[in-house]
Amino acid sequence: MASSNGLICFTNCLLPQEDGALVEKDLWIDERRGVILDSQRTFFLRKERPDRIIDLGGNILSPGFLDIQINGAYNFDFSVYEGDDAAYKEGLHRVAEKIVETGVTSLLPTIITQERSLYPKLLHLLRPYSAPNSATLLGWHAEGPFIQLAKRGAHAPEFLMGAKEEIKSFESVYGAENLVVAEDWLMGSEATGDALGVRVITAAPEVDGVMVSIPELARRGVVFSIGHSIATTALATAAVQGGARLITHLFNAMPQLHHRDPSIIGLLGASPHLSSPSELTDLGLTKGKVAEMSFERPFYELIVDGIHSHPNSVRLAYSSYPDGCVLITDAMKILDPHLPDGVHPWRDGKNFVKAGDKLYLEGTDTLAGSVVSLDKCVRNFSRFTGCSLGEAIRCATYNPARCLGIEARKGTLRPGADADLVVLDRKGRVQSTWVAGREVWTRA
Ligand code: ZN
Repeated sequence: MASSNGLICFTNCLLPQEDGALVEKDLWIDERRGVILDSQRTFFLRKERPDRIIDLGGNILSPGFLDIQINGAYNFDFSVYEGDDAAYKEGLHRVAEKIVETGVTSLLPTIITQERSLYPKLLHLLRPYSAPNSATLLGWHAEGPFIQLAKRGAHAPEFLMGAKEEIKSFESVYGAENLVVAEDWLMGSEATGDALGVRVITAAPEVDGVMVSIPELARRGVVFSIGHSIATTALATAAVQGGARLITHLFNAMPQLHHRDPSIIGLLGASPHLSSPSELTDLGLTKGKVAEMSFERPFYELIVDGIHSHPNSVRLAYSSYPDGCVLITDAMKILDPHLPDGVHPWRDGKNFVKAGDKLYLEGTDTLAGSVVSLDKCVRNFSRFTGCSLGEAIRCATYNPARCLGIEARKGTLRPGADADLVVLDRKGRVQSTWVAGREVWTRA
């Protein structure tokens, strides 16, 4: 018998394409290198035979999902650090190991506004991480402290800050070493080295010193995301022209759509040509030939639990700009598909009440964040918008990968990409999950 070559061929399956189509096709991967292969080259040119042929029985073989905003899961909160590095890492790795059952193979742990001295300790622990049998931690998403007091949501008001020293303020909070240019940090042999950790910063452009810092943050490879903000249309537009690429949990923690000043939400309707040059010039935010500027709309995050945004709002956003849609969970530590409904401890002696995908503070009707899993968001999204499962999958794979600029490696089935895969039945339910060419979870 010939020696094993580590090649696996998935057959009898539908492959989601980058345009949202589902196409019946085989997929070849190299289990040893953990990458997707060019099946034409492998089979027809090199005449290789696979070690294993896996018949998926007509199921969907999707790229693994990416969750770029998640606060915790499996009883671990990424924003709670109690001075014990080992315990924190254990919690972090537990989430990475378990979350694959929801189809997520890459995530950005999200840190909400902290007491300033906690950042260096926390962020040091949140460097990119990959381990066998686990989802990849791509770095972190810092939500706050440069956000708007009036739209702070659950963020602690006493820790909010302005950025008076502009980029230096960002460096002093997140650590200058986390904000260095690292062109191809994910392209290296391992993503666990001293590569930068910051991937996304959510901040409010109207907060002192934030707007002028956006171009420099963008230059350093940070995705600047507009959120927890009351930016006017003019300010939100200027932020995008300065390099903002994303809107944090669209509809939540921002002004609602007003027809005369549609603010952040209105960016989804913006024309490719600058809409209000005189207003921006008046604000001193643009110089010179503003009329010639082109405008690329930002990506936008949606929490599709049916609670944080009405299904009609989800459909409205998607209809206006399908290419920018990124599904997130924004989940709290209580996210765990096995957890029953009922009362669960939160912190400071307070309790959560979980009722299906609804989570609120005990004794109130205040929403306490989300508890939905990303695979469920994909199914909800298809139902709410009427789009195909392939198009919904795109919003949890290819779109978030493009937003982070890693679409050559993640969120795609291109040859050379990481073999991070999720098998879904025709209703979008997760059947098995693969990371770097290895099956890491399968439905019992
Ligand atoms: Zn938020």
